[in-house]
Amino acid sequence: MTELSLYDPFPKMQFSDKHCFLCGAHTGPENRTPVFATWLQDRYSLRDKELLLLDKSITTYGELTIPCCDTCHTEHVIPMEEEIATAAEQGMAGLQALDPKRLFQWIGKMYYGTLITELIKEADPLIMPQNPVSENPKMLGKFREFFKVLQSLRVPTVFSDFLPCSLFMLEVSPTEDELPFEYQDELTTMAFSIKLGPVVLVCTLLDNGIIGKALGKLHRLTQGQQLHPIQVAEFKARVFYAAYIFNVVPEYFERPVKSGDTELTLDSIIDDVTNEIFNPWEMTAYAHMLEEMLKPWDIREHEILADPQSPLTFLVDEQNQFQPMERYQKMR
Ligand SMILES: [Zn+2]
Repeated sequence: MTELSLYDPFPKMQFSDKHCFLCGAHTGPENRTPVFATWLQDRYSLRDKELLLLDKSITTYGELTIPCCDTCHTEHVIPMEEEIATAAEQGMAGLQALDPKRLFQWIGKMYYGTLITELIKEADPLIMPQNPVSENPKMLGKFREFFKVLQSLRVPTVFSDFLPCSLFMLEVSPTEDELPFEYQDELTTMAFSIKLGPVVLVCTLLDNGIIGKALGKLHRLTQGQQLHPIQVAEFKARVFYAAYIFNVVPEYFERPVKSGDTELTLDSIIDDVTNEIFNPWEMTAYAHMLEEMLKPWDIREHEILADPQSPLTFLVDEQNQFQPMERYQKMR
């Protein structure tokens, strides 16, 4: 039986190639698991594709691996990857049928994998990063809370009345879609997105579903629709911007385990008394985010803010209804 207790690598900053990322057990050089699963690398020919890391060094999807003991690898990581791989083969319907908790764990593993790759590097005395994550107490506190919920991948866990994240699923129209795979994450805001063929998953990893509620109306408008890639980019900008102004960190608490318990229960609180949940919306900051996401279409900030009261949108019309788009007409 799995022990119903969580591993906490943060007090001792136990991030090295000698400790399993998930349970802390000692690992040797051969005990590794890929951050981006082998099935993902095979299906989208990612193995030799380059990936830019936080410290601006370049690796490949195939090379990016993290320490993982045999038990965690065979009993927890592989079964999850198999479940997701099978679901993803059935596209949107398959992924929608999954337990959202499973998707959270899957996305969380990739996010955490890139994060600890950075933390392991920072522990190397020969590397002196400019803004080390490991010396930012606020960020570390946030990562520590996140790792508690991520361990539901290893320790059978019930989240009492919350899902730790917000999940958005979008379907892309094939007409002008040229990218079979795309991946994006932001370490500090914990916003993440991954494109698997025609399905895009966008996730904010540690908000207890609050961003999902805030953007719920927009998300519902997109359901049952095929979005143009530029509409997906705008949707991502809205989610990533919401994560950027999200101002609270949920905390998680283990309920005491009684003998005979087969699952650990986690409760969560958010301190919304001392902190506002969202920082104020700033139009120019949002426009920057949107400009960044719209880079492939070369749309600039002054075009986004041509009407300063209502920024450029491809998703909705003046009545705030979904606006179908088959092809993108260049703006100038
Ligand atoms: Zn392990």
